[in-house]
Amino acid sequence: MVKKPKVGFYSFSGCEGDLLTIIHCEDELLDIFGAVDVRSFRMASSERHDDESLDVAFVEGSITTKQQSEKIKKIRERSSVIVAIGSCACYGGPQSARLGYDDWEERFKKVYAGARLTIVKPQESQPLDEYIKVDYYIPGCPMDKHQFFYALTRLAKGMPVELSRFPVCAECKWNENECLLLKGQLCLGPVTAGGCNSRCPNYGLPCIGCWGPTDEANVASEINLLKERNFREQEIVNKLRLFGGSSMVKRFGELLGIKKTSHASSVKTISRSGKKPAASKSSTTGNK
Ligand code: SF4
Ligand code: SF4
Repeated sequence: MVKKPKVGFYSFSGCEGDLLTIIHCEDELLDIFGAVDVRSFRMASSERHDDESLDVAFVEGSITTKQQSEKIKKIRERSSVIVAIGSCACYGGPQSARLGYDDWEERFKKVYAGARLTIVKPQESQPLDEYIKVDYYIPGCPMDKHQFFYALTRLAKGMPVELSRFPVCAECKWNENECLLLKGQLCLGPVTAGGCNSRCPNYGLPCIGCWGPTDEANVASEINLLKERNFREQEIVNKLRLFGGSSMVKRFGELLGIKKTSHASSVKTISRSGKKPAASKSSTTGNK
């Protein structure tokens, strides 16, 4: 009998929309669970084997506490392949929209001042690859189920995964939509990774970039185009940063007026009492 690959599904900070996307695949769920040996999937089963080695771990959510940063490193140690699923795991998600502004402590206090927190050692939201090496990224808010099936099928056979490299605009053209940018709307289609089948423009809504920047994104040109259409620079930057997270900081930081820092090495934590935290050292593992 052929041995099935061992697979685990894990969730950190986020809305769990990516795991829900899998659960909602009612027609394919039996095939998924038949093709691989699912060892951990909190949302689907109370049975867990969290000390075994895995062939593939699918991980959603960003890392927002010290405990999570330790847990993700342990998952890395026992997994041959790690796949980040969803924008939070890939880029940090909307909770990372202000990465690089260096004012996390003030923001944290503004929001939670005086609150009795049950979160232990919170820290600024970061994508998985600030802590571990990530092998594949399936972005999206949430990810698209077809890209997940494709990745799962390939990885189950020990084959590499190659996702689409074109921007949302390409799919939008294939779907013969009228261009919203040309009609004066703030659409991020030209700089956003495709794969969602231009879901929003198909319904007359501009793309807000939830799949993160595409490989060849020309952000400078997008900003100029939008300025020509009388959008304010700050409004454009805010939109680009909403889902751009770490990717926007690392790739386009200078252009957007963001400090370029290595975030893992500057992660700060706040103790439960809200007192001045001890700065944590770089938590990047040797895997990176
Ligand atoms: S509507 Fe948006 S995604 Fe579609 S072609 Fe225009 S800019 Fe691109
Ligand atoms: S069109 Fe843009 S905002 Fe809408 S789902 Fe696709 S990537 Fe996300």
